[in-house]
This record gives sequence, structure tokens and C-alpha cells, in this order.
Amino acid sequence: MDHRSLSRLAAPAVAALLALTTGCTGGTVHGRPGASGLRDPYFPKAGNGGYQVEHYGLDLDYDPADGRLEGTAVITARAGQGLSSFNLDLSGLKVEEVTVQGEPARFNRTGNELTVRPAEDLEKGEAFRTEIEYSGRPKALTDADGTREGWITTGDGAVGVGEPVGSMTWFPGNHHPSDKAAYDITITVPKGYEAVSNGELRARTAQADGSTSFAWHSPEPMASYLATAAVGKYRVETGRTPSGVALYNAVDPGEAEASAGDLARLPEMVEWGAGRFGPYPFGTAGAIVLPAGTLQYALETQTKPVFPGAPGSEELVLHELAHQWFGNSVSPKSWKDMWLNEGFATYAEWLWAEDRGGTTAQQEFDAFLSGDTEVDEAADSDWDAFPPAAPPGPEHISGNPVYYRGAMVLHRIRQEAGDEKFFALLRDWAAEHRHGNASTADFTAFAEERTGHDLKKVWDVWLYGKARPR
Ligand SMILES: [Zn+2]
Repeated sequence: MDHRSLSRLAAPAVAALLALTTGCTGGTVHGRPGASGLRDPYFPKAGNGGYQVEHYGLDLDYDPADGRLEGTAVITARAGQGLSSFNLDLSGLKVEEVTVQGEPARFNRTGNELTVRPAEDLEKGEAFRTEIEYSGRPKALTDADGTREGWITTGDGAVGVGEPVGSMTWFPGNHHPSDKAAYDITITVPKGYEAVSNGELRARTAQADGSTSFAWHSPEPMASYLATAAVGKYRVETGRTPSGVALYNAVDPGEAEASAGDLARLPEMVEWGAGRFGPYPFGTAGAIVLPAGTLQYALETQTKPVFPGAPGSEELVLHELAHQWFGNSVSPKSWKDMWLNEGFATYAEWLWAEDRGGTTAQQEFDAFLSGDTEVDEAADSDWDAFPPAAPPGPEHISGNPVYYRGAMVLHRIRQEAGDEKFFALLRDWAAEHRHGNASTADFTAFAEERTGHDLKKVWDVWLYGKARPR
């Protein structure tokens, strides 16, 4: 397991916050403001410094008829420094009340930063509980690449999808993948609606007013961009994989028939992934299939990927499942490390086809090099436009090179190290950072150490090189 060093998180106090900290409120602890961002190379204001969240307890009441959300967020965190104030990320919505350790706390908002000033400073190492009451109509965000994320309304409900920063549209938090936490998300919806979230459904409770509360429990650490809440008139199917992983599929009725075939492969895919990458990292698996046309992309929300309508291919189901190992369990340290998510999930698709007697990974690799769209229709895409470990800007973190050239990096390692060492590397990588975070530098060092091969040329040409590799 990997944990970020506290010194890395204890970024210098931001000048703007100093205005809030005139005078200590008494007691013996003298804290300073937590940083308002984690200096991510692409999203510098995402996340906050000075603390790590251990648990989110979200209690959400959502009415699809008027799009109104009423929420209570109980955030249990540990201070990494003495704190006179700290920040949470929140976009839109009205904050009604904040308490820290049960005492009313002062707060103010600037942009997407909610600054909380506890009545008493928090001590370094102290576990503390912050409760935020908030409400309003959550609004989606438009990403740097033009896609929409955050709280997205659908024909009969809504869904939260958070990559990279959209989760701040529906709950306050430390919204950077380097701060992973356990979650309990309870969603109350009017009669006739289903509410689906990550992990296991612990309780489904009918309320006196006719509404229903769905209590979802995620014990394994989760990056906040992988949290989801889906409200709608879903058809629910449950089951188990042969090795006992619980399955929960929530499918829009209009998409049920078209989804059935691909979703039926999930149990087999979970078992296959465990064979290739090591034990499935979570207690549950499944899928959420939205009404068609709601979103432009699928997202690997933890334990239950979200699909924008029927998946349409088993490769897409496999891709989002593969992220449960690569991205969700082993999460990126920063958004610059996105190829560790997407290159791996794309390579998993190639392996799945290869293991089923279809196109081999070598044939995929060759097809991309030669632009052979007969083998893969993405082969003539701009996969060579930039090096996968160095996207030129935030609008490129989901660009083709991150996926396809990222997968080609893995294939180059396989070519150099041979199958035995390569597949051991994939399993060891998933095990080494299980439920943690890792960077590209962590991976390149680990790959050389585990395979015993000097892979510098692979990194120079394929991972970091600007020119099209040949
Ligand atoms: Zn992906």
C-alpha cells in the first residue's frame, strides 16, 4: 500500500486564506490554513491540503421532478498539520450550516472552494468530524475537452459522474484522486424510483411519506471521482460471479434488451480479470445503464461503471471492469498519470480478445503502427499526437495517445520482458498498490525492478518521446 507523505500535502498556505486567520480562537493549539489545492499539474485547485479524509457519510434526498437535492455530508478526516481553517471543494449549491466536532463553524465560499474555520483549531494528527448541510439544484460542469461531468439529469432522474472534478457538483469533499476514503451514501427518492450507488446495498427502507431510502456501503478506499449516485426507474438484476462477488446491475428499461448480452458476460469477465490481474479488488461488481443519450462516455465508477445507454460491445464492459484494478484500486497520484488508468484498461481489452482466440495484442500493436483500420478502427486515430505520460494540457488527459499509445507502452514491455515476466508484472503492480495511489515514476521503477530489464528506451521513445515511435 502506498500513502502520500504528509509533507507533500502540507503545501504552503495560500495568501488569500490568511485573511481568515486573524487571531487564534483560544485554546493551546495554533493551526494554520490548509492549502486550497494540491497543485495537481492539470487541476491545481482540485483537492485540498492539510488533512486526509477517512470516511464520507452522504445523506442525499433527491426529487427528480424539480431537480432539487438536499444533502448532509459527514466527513471524517485526519489533520496532517495544525489547522486554523481548511477547504473543501464544492461547485454551486447553497451551504446552510457547517459544524466541526459538533460545534458550529464559520465558513465562506470563493469559486469552488468552501473554506471552513472551526471554532477551535485542529491539532496535527487529530481525527475530526465535519458536518455540512447543503441544498439546491446541482449543475453539470463542462470539461476542458467539451464533455459534461458532475450531476447530469436524465429523462427520468439524474446521475453523478465525477472524472476528473465533477463530484464537487453534488457533494463537498477533498476532490483529488490522491485522497481516497470509504463511503456510505444514502439516497432518498420518491416512490417508484430506484437509487443506485457504489458498493453494497445495505438497506432499502420505505419512509412514512412514501419515499424510499437506499443505503449504499463502500468499505474499500475510493477516489471521489469514482463516486456515483444514479436515480431513475431502473430495472435491477442481482447475482453472483462463480467465485462469489456480488453483482448488481441497474438498467434503464429501454436499454435492457440491448444490454443483456454484454452484461451477461460480466461474471466471466470478473473471473478472467482475477486470473490475469490478481484478486478482484472489491466486494461487489455490476453496472448502471443510463437512458440512451444521457452522456457521451462510459465511466468506471467504483464497483458499478456507468454506461450511456446499452454498452454496445463486450469490449466496453471489459474496459470499465479492468479499471476496477487499474484506476480504481491502483489510482493515479495526479491527473498526469491518467495513462496508468487508460493504457491498462485498453490493454486489458486486447488481452481479453487474445485470450478468446480473437485478435492478439501483437496484431493490435502492429495495426496501430501501420494504421490498419481493418484490425482496429482506432488504428488511424491521432494515437501518436503526444506522449501518453505527458499530455499537453487538461483537455488532453482523455486523448487517444493516453489510451492507445498507453496500451502500446505495455506491449513494448511485454516484447522486452517476455510473457511470463510481463504478466507477473501486471499482477504485482495491482497487488503492490492495491487500494492506494501510484505515479508514472513509480511504475517505470517497478517495471524495471520486477522484470530485471533495462526499459529506458521504452520510456524515452514510447512513454515520453514527442516523435511518433516506429
Ligand atoms: Zn477507461
